[in-house]
Amino acid sequence: MKGLRPRRAGVHWRQPQPHKTMVATAPLEIPEINPSPRVQEFLSATRPLLINGEWKAAASGETFAVYNPASGAEIAQVAEGGAEDINQAVAAARKVFDDPSHAWNTMTPSERGKLIWKIGDLILEHADELAELESLDNGKPMGVAKVADVPLSADLFHYMAGWATKLEGNTIPISVPYAPGAKFHAFTVREPVGVVGQIIPWNFPLLMAAWKLGPVLATGNCVVLKPAEQTPLTALRLGEILQEAGVPDGVVNIVTGMGETAGAALAAHDDVDKVAFTGSTEVGKMIVNAAAGNLKKVTLELGGKSPNIIFKDTDDLEATIAGAASAIFFNHGQCCCAGSRLYVEKDIFDDVVQGVSAAADAIKLGPGLAADTEMGPLVSDEQLERVTGYMNAGQEAGANCVTGGTRRGDSGYFVSPTVITDARDDMSIVREEIFGPVVVADPFDDPEEIIARGNDSTYGLAAGIWTRDIAKAHRTAARLRAGTVWVNCYNIFDAALPFGGYKQSGWGREMGHEVLDLYTETKAVCLGL
Ligand code: NAP
Ligand code: MG
Repeated sequence: MKGLRPRRAGVHWRQPQPHKTMVATAPLEIPEINPSPRVQEFLSATRPLLINGEWKAAASGETFAVYNPASGAEIAQVAEGGAEDINQAVAAARKVFDDPSHAWNTMTPSERGKLIWKIGDLILEHADELAELESLDNGKPMGVAKVADVPLSADLFHYMAGWATKLEGNTIPISVPYAPGAKFHAFTVREPVGVVGQIIPWNFPLLMAAWKLGPVLATGNCVVLKPAEQTPLTALRLGEILQEAGVPDGVVNIVTGMGETAGAALAAHDDVDKVAFTGSTEVGKMIVNAAAGNLKKVTLELGGKSPNIIFKDTDDLEATIAGAASAIFFNHGQCCCAGSRLYVEKDIFDDVVQGVSAAADAIKLGPGLAADTEMGPLVSDEQLERVTGYMNAGQEAGANCVTGGTRRGDSGYFVSPTVITDARDDMSIVREEIFGPVVVADPFDDPEEIIARGNDSTYGLAAGIWTRDIAKAHRTAARLRAGTVWVNCYNIFDAALPFGGYKQSGWGREMGHEVLDLYTETKAVCLGL
């Protein structure tokens, strides 16, 4: 099905449409930039699903449009997989997993490691193309994708490659009180969980695919991956790279489509042993319910409303202000760990608000493909509605918009980086995840009280602390209920560093060796001697 289509009940949908936003629109010149011939060629064909090593149309024959968020123009058509395609993909993954003589299962850990390493190498080899595709699809600046998304994705595979040979169990001396005198040799082995369903969001499309697929491959599982409907392109290109690296057919299957159909079918599938999800807390809860049918394992990486706390004894005020601005404005605020609640000790509050606002005003907005763009558009029409809706809600509730608070331009999904003060703790802009470049700043007096306020959230994904007092940094870090605490830095990610949430920010961890536990079962073997 080509072109535009009507809105379907309950289905997220990206067709450009008139905006119901009430916030003002400030002008923005948006230059038109054509993609490179290589990327144009990738976009020119309807992109199919990857099932059992074959690129094929959806069983229904349906496709959906992918849009450039800088213009709202359609850039590609992608197969719209549904329940039938998920069934086929799960069956392909299951067939590989259950066949002990399959190449995937006879491969030595060392061979598997080398294959995963090669994926990392190929990502770097195609870095420019992947960065361009990511920028076009998601809206983020291509320069950022080139230095962050793409190398981090490659690094994740390189890091996970090393783990393939290190998934060890233990030998365990046991006592068995009811078998006096008996001797046993007991040990554990770590085995793959089986067929994994993975559902990922649109904010870091390639990187989220890497975070998910790296540990799947390192631990010898098979997988069906469903990318976000807004940003399916780099995951599909990654599918080609996996094939080029030599991942056997059926090990990684990629089904693009809607969350409510393809995603829901995957989460509920009785032959899926584990589902790993990254996205909103609301959908995360639906995944948990869907998984209950066969009690598949569930890991969740969900939303956040992270406190970023600046003490007056921060070491370098200028660097702190730059850090606080980047904590919220990086990736247009479309980060689950965005430092969206900025708490500043009273004496320096005005300086910090002024500094972060100046940084916001200085950010160059534009299409991701323009070389001088520092912030691109939000990912979709839906996100534009959502973010400007929060801007409205905050202003209507009486909060003060220091800078920003507007949509920018009348095509594409641009908004101004926004700094808000004088909000009450019960306002939606303070409590809910906005997922846009909107920070709410508030002063504090009491370093003790600010810990309680920092923790006063249903989320617990990340937190920031800025101080030169090392003991205070440790004390505060220890008491913040968050999966990641950054001190005198923010948004520092590494393949070796586990990432995930306390409270309603999720279950389990991504990356580091922690993630491997969540993709393996421990089998205890006990031999009577
Ligand atoms: P979302 O709906 O949670 O989407 C995440 C993924 O889940 C997508 O692949 C989505 O598919 C899929 N999905 C949606 N409904 C599903 C269902 N019933 N069963 C199975 N899978 C389903 O997030 P969103 O709508 O894109 O964004 C909404 C808000 O979520 C954002 O504003 C933000 O607050 C939050 N969010 C958080 C993160 C994070 O990293 N923590 C990332 C993205 C968004 P489709 O989108 O393809 O339909
Ligand atoms: Mg969605």
